Amino acid sequence: MRAAFSLLLCAALAGPAALAQETKELKLDGYAEWRDRGALVIEGQRVRLAPGGRFKGGGDARDFASVPLGYEVKVKGTRQRDGSILAREVEAKPNGDALFEGELKRAFDEQETQFRRAGRMFEQDDQGRMESYGRLLERGPQVERVRRIAARLVPPYMEPEDFRVYVVENKEWNAMAAPNRSIYVFSGLLDAMDDDEVAIVIGHELAHSTHEHSRKGFKKQILIQLGALGLIGIAEGAIDSEGWKMAAQVLTMLGASAWSSGYGRSHEDQADRVGLRYAWEAGYDVTKGPQLWQRFADKYGEGNKVVNFFFSDHSQSLIRSRNLRQELAYNYGAQ
Ligand SMILES: [Zn+2]
Repeated sequence: MRAAFSLLLCAALAGPAALAQETKELKLDGYAEWRDRGALVIEGQRVRLAPGGRFKGGGDARDFASVPLGYEVKVKGTRQRDGSILAREVEAKPNGDALFEGELKRAFDEQETQFRRAGRMFEQDDQGRMESYGRLLERGPQVERVRRIAARLVPPYMEPEDFRVYVVENKEWNAMAAPNRSIYVFSGLLDAMDDDEVAIVIGHELAHSTHEHSRKGFKKQILIQLGALGLIGIAEGAIDSEGWKMAAQVLTMLGASAWSSGYGRSHEDQADRVGLRYAWEAGYDVTKGPQLWQRFADKYGEGNKVVNFFFSDHSQSLIRSRNLRQELAYNYGAQ
């Protein structure tokens, strides 16, 4: 099994020459995170605008070359032989305040304050029963190690100080990033993984945070809940102050439960791709990615009773491992 696995990995790393040009159109929806030899890195992918390609810009994005890092970018294009994407259409706009963003952050700020006050990370069920995940560490060698790694992973348009990193004393391999930019890493994961592996896991969690997957995933739920509360007919941008107050309450309510329900498949895939790029840009060995998935699958493959935020959907682990191998070939083959 191991031998076959490394063979596949080697095939994937054979380099750009092994890749075929695809004609199928791809869509990306992410942030401009780096520039790489004339290409803009969006969703972990190197993107170039095709000659005669359409560009639509907002804010300071006047043309493809001037898109500021951190801008929200939508791309339509095709995969090239060198693994990059040639765009037929690019749309870039400032990453502004979106619906519910502030409310969601406040709900998680409140949760973080509660964790710190209690000195532990916990979840409360409908009946108010508290389930503890373990002691919350704010100092010590493990905290220093994980903070050092996380600080290197933050994309250039954000400040490492914007993120707060904690260690939770728990033997499981787990990590999570909340939408208010607090990150929690279990000590079991830190004990079992080297820095490259920890960087890949935190990179994945960080991408959920930078790409606002919570808010995007919650939006539909929130609107349904607001409708159920009698605030029917609420459209984006047309919520009165009473409606906002309700939205904040609904978010606080959804906050905890959403952590256990995890993110959707497409957000997980995006976090894998973007997280890998974060780790790579920071100089970590991302070729350990596929093996890391295998390690999670070996440990948590069957009967996983623990809610695992990183390894949320274990039935998909081999597919994710394969996707990461493809990513390594597309975007990191020459490295
Ligand atoms: Zn995830």
